[in-house]
Amino acid sequence: MEALNSYILYDSVDVAKHDEGWLVRGHGYQHPTECIKCGACEEACPQSIDIIHQLERFVDAVMPEKKNA
Ligand code: SF4
Repeated sequence: MEALNSYILYDSVDVAKHDEGWLVRGHGYQHPTECIKCGACEEACPQSIDIIHQLERFVDAVMPEKKNA
């Protein structure tokens, strides 16, 4: 979600790719393509954010080459 926020804030695929790589390689996060759509995060989210859809949106916009890879 942090990289998605960067994508939205800066309207930049390059910035979002940089942030996504920084989070995955530097901080142990998983790629958004690793989401198994279990829904646990959406059940826990107090703001009812549609996290699964937002992750799909990020992949479509920033890393479409990884979709269904
Ligand atoms: S739905 Fe949410 S909790 Fe489940 S794998 Fe995807 S991001 Fe993680």
